[in-house]
Amino acid sequence: MELSLADFVLWVLVGSFALVGLCAMSSRYFHARAERRGLARRVICRLCLHAFEDSSLGPTVECPACRAVTEKGRGRSLG
Ligand SMILES: [Zn+2]
Repeated sequence: MELSLADFVLWVLVGSFALVGLCAMSSRYFHARAERRGLARRVICRLCLHAFEDSSLGPTVECPACRAVTEKGRGRSLG
């Protein structure tokens, strides 16, 4: 089987396009995953409404802006 220069160039183009598409898709996937993880860690202070990220494991966290202790539970916006 003979591979002409045109065929070779075509395959290189197709291969690089596939590679770029794969890179774009994987980077988008990892970015979305990191963003979702960051969102899960996000805490909004009930006192001063300062939003910050917290990585500690306790049920409460201290606000870095006003030092108020805030519960980390999600879905409760009243208070
Ligand atoms: Zn605060």
